[in-house]
Amino acid sequence: MKNIIQSLSRRQLIQLAAAGVAAPTAALTLTGCSQSGRKGAPSVIVIGGGFGGSAAAKYLKRYNADLNVTLIEPKKTYVTCPGSNWVIGGIAEMTQITHNYDAAKKNGINVVHEMVTSVDPEKQTVTLSGGEVLNYDKLVMSPGIDFKLDVHEGVDQDTENHLPHAYKAGDQTILLRDQLRAMKDGGTFVMVAPPNPFRCPPGPYERAGMIAHYLKNNKPKSKILILDQKNAFSKQGLFQEGWRNNYGQMIEWVAMQDGGEVKGFDVANKTIDAGYGQVKADVINYIPPQKAGKLAFSVGLTNESGFCPVNQQTFESSIHKNIHVIGDASIASPMPKSGHSATSQAKTTAANIVLELAGQEAISAKNVNTCYSLVTPDYAISVAAVYDFKDGKIAAVQGAGGVSPMGASPEFRKQEAEYTRGWYRSITNEVWG
Ligand SMILES: Cc1cc2nc3c(=O)[nH]c(=O)nc-3n(C[C@H](O)[C@H](O)[C@H](O)COP(=O)(O)OP(=O)(O)OC[C@H]3O[C@@H](n4cnc5c(N)ncnc54)[C@H](O)[C@@H]3O)c2cc1C
Repeated sequence: MKNIIQSLSRRQLIQLAAAGVAAPTAALTLTGCSQSGRKGAPSVIVIGGGFGGSAAAKYLKRYNADLNVTLIEPKKTYVTCPGSNWVIGGIAEMTQITHNYDAAKKNGINVVHEMVTSVDPEKQTVTLSGGEVLNYDKLVMSPGIDFKLDVHEGVDQDTENHLPHAYKAGDQTILLRDQLRAMKDGGTFVMVAPPNPFRCPPGPYERAGMIAHYLKNNKPKSKILILDQKNAFSKQGLFQEGWRNNYGQMIEWVAMQDGGEVKGFDVANKTIDAGYGQVKADVINYIPPQKAGKLAFSVGLTNESGFCPVNQQTFESSIHKNIHVIGDASIASPMPKSGHSATSQAKTTAANIVLELAGQEAISAKNVNTCYSLVTPDYAISVAAVYDFKDGKIAAVQGAGGVSPMGASPEFRKQEAEYTRGWYRSITNEVWG
């Protein structure tokens, strides 16, 4: 039987990948042997059931219903980081940002709730925590991030239990929220914001607004101090305008060059050794410097940056063939490390894997990113961009996308707050629905 994908035009596939439009599953039926010569349909394993991995599994199956797609994720439910700042600020509940894998199973994906302990890129095998060894023709890895704990003095594996980062949503989100709730009125909440590159460039600054919202309504004498490990941040003018307009002087941001640089912590005494002296805090939200998820290191997929170099057209690793790395773990700059980016990269990757398995040429799909941030529940700002693959790398398309205007009316900001919630509903439905 002729593979129907061969009859799809290059243009149709580009549209499929970029827009994520569902092609009728039956129309993409592929038959044949796996690339490795094993009998049956090709086997694609996806590691990580977050934004990148869940979306990749869904779109692989959608673009080619005959593929054997296995999604490996240890957790039975996934708590999104998007929306977790709202939980910390008291305007959302954990249940509203928790998703499961029922739809993935219904979509014909084999979901395995185990940890991957190793990958053998030569033999093309994945070993699970239970000891089982699975073969793959293509592997997609979206393991997210890990933290560099050797940059600041006084930090070890246990630090997060006292100075929560809340940068992997779940128990950490609850811990930070509860520390904030227990803080006295008049207390100082200190956030140590990470250096570039890190997951969700606007994330720490949205969090500052959400915490200020909580404090303004519950502990108005309190203060938020952000010690930044860089000198500028995403949507900076818009955030600072929003903070001033809504919270007066409650949030103070200190750039690295102005004394924000942190050398170390006295965790027990909640004291920070910063550029401009010792800072005593009531709550410390330490967001450490970041690197690709641990598995990426053990498989040998990272370079000196701590992230994974890839062919930015197909997201295939530049180090190991037949392994594609997407999401926060990959080097996809100028795309930011975001859930939206990871989802877009997942679709591009799924389309290219399906094409490659069918013996077709790779396509250069357009990728997209949008980041909405709440400053208050009724005041939001956003940035959006479209990316092309040009001269061998990802490049922002000039004139596409944009950023919210400075000085916009309260009605405009309120409308953006509605779009923020709409974005959340739509992307989580796309990934886990
Ligand atoms: C506070 C905050 C707010 C944010 N807000 C937004 C936002 O508004 N919009 C937006 O687009 N992005 C936002 N983000 C960023 C977004 O959460 C990440 O960019 C996104 O989660 C990246 O997806 P990923 O698939 O790379 O990693 P993840 O979503 O972290 O998924 C990785 C998965 O891999 C699994 N895994 C790891 N190792 C293994 C292994 N060995 N075996 C099996 N599974 C494994 C993990 O359990 C995890 O489920 C925010 C982030 C934060 C911290």
